[in-house]
Amino acid sequence: MDTPQTTTFHKTYQERGYCSRTGYARIREVLRACCWLYNQSLEQRKNTYLADGKGMTMYRQMKGLTQLRKEQQFWRDIGLTVSRGVLVRVDRSFKAFFRRVKAGEKPGYPRFKPHQRYQCIELASVTAGMVKGNRIKVKGLPVIRIRPNRELPDSSQLKALRIGMHGRILTVDLVYEEEQNILAPVDMEQADLSHDTVVGIDVGVNERMTFSDGNTVSRRVIDRSRETKLQQSISRCQRGSNRRRKAVATFAREKRRNTVRNRNECHRLTTAIVQNYQKIAVEKLAIKNMSRKGGSRKRGLNRSMMEQAWGMLFQQLRYKAEWAGRQFVEVDPRYTSKTCSRCGEVRKEKLAVYRVFVCPLCGYTEDRDLNAAKNILQRGWGYPAQSFSRAEKDILVQLSI
Ligand SMILES: [Zn+2]
Repeated sequence: MDTPQTTTFHKTYQERGYCSRTGYARIREVLRACCWLYNQSLEQRKNTYLADGKGMTMYRQMKGLTQLRKEQQFWRDIGLTVSRGVLVRVDRSFKAFFRRVKAGEKPGYPRFKPHQRYQCIELASVTAGMVKGNRIKVKGLPVIRIRPNRELPDSSQLKALRIGMHGRILTVDLVYEEEQNILAPVDMEQADLSHDTVVGIDVGVNERMTFSDGNTVSRRVIDRSRETKLQQSISRCQRGSNRRRKAVATFAREKRRNTVRNRNECHRLTTAIVQNYQKIAVEKLAIKNMSRKGGSRKRGLNRSMMEQAWGMLFQQLRYKAEWAGRQFVEVDPRYTSKTCSRCGEVRKEKLAVYRVFVCPLCGYTEDRDLNAAKNILQRGWGYPAQSFSRAEKDILVQLSI
């Protein structure tokens, strides 16, 4: 029997990790050592290059690691995959650097990391035995317990493992290879479906998302009062004091909580979209150009745009759509909010002037975002906004006067 061909994906499960009190201390100790090794390897690469004009390869550095392990008990106690993981990471940052140089971008040279910013133990390779039930065991590290609230795939599918320490919070990223999980197509005949199965999505600041069928997701409002308060309490503490250190940790925890909250919210949204629509079109965003870095001086707009987290939304949509066998396109965003979705006429006025789109030609009146969403749908999937010939347009002009 023929089995339908499926693609495999790498899927990351991030779980919170727990270990003993001494365990946390041990993880911190290993992290510090890894950070040292990272900086050493960076320096070695730089020095070899300066000395004989040649780059250092990862494999030569791994030989150096063997020497280090011969000399020091500490490194022998830690699994080879942990220390090699550091070199893999160095290699990756160099590769990224050279790739960007080649592409004519302006990359920054890989930097030394202070230990506060070295927060993740990455393994060079994994074995199925590292995850047993809810316990993670890596040589040289304490046993880490996780409490997944969903079933994890079989550990034979484990592809990568990362252990992160963010303040006092331990996280474990488990990367598994999984087969594509194609969803059943959205049923057109379904009685309770209050929307089309094909959708164009416009993103904006007034409404976070506007769907071409009229649905909207409202603007994201973040309560920052707690964050502000914590920040103020930091500034009241004396520099270098214990109290200040604690206040910084509390602030970091609050920040992280908000990050996770935001990510989860995006996940709920994108999952719902992928479940409800068969074909999805969005505009291709150049967020860089819109934010302050890109030259815009309007800080207010910049910030509220950032908070809508469109980049994350689209990224999630992209892979979830692929995962579920849905179709996803990004369309040219030019004039989507200035074009009439009924007759195709382009309005030339400045954007900020009107909230409601009124077509000067055919008189079509629609919410600006909804009109844009309809244009995006049409560009993405060719769904007709009714088209009119030139002659018909002329008649329409007369009618609207
Ligand atoms: Zn029109």
